[in-house]
Amino acid sequence: MAVPKKKTSKSKRNMRRSHHALVNVVGAECPNCGEVKLPHHVCGACGHYDGREVVAQAEA
Ligand SMILES: [Zn+2]
Repeated sequence: MAVPKKKTSKSKRNMRRSHHALVNVVGAECPNCGEVKLPHHVCGACGHYDGREVVAQAEA
């Protein structure tokens, strides 16, 4: 079994764990309507993605 050669320092351990607090992704603003949406996802408010309408809106 592979065994680490050196003990991970408190600094290196904490630097690795510093990313564990980043789970709460706020999101990105939709360039079409300005609504907060998930990054790399179709906007839930207007159905736009990458500058074009992907999901047709019922109220439009
Ligand atoms: Zn939008």
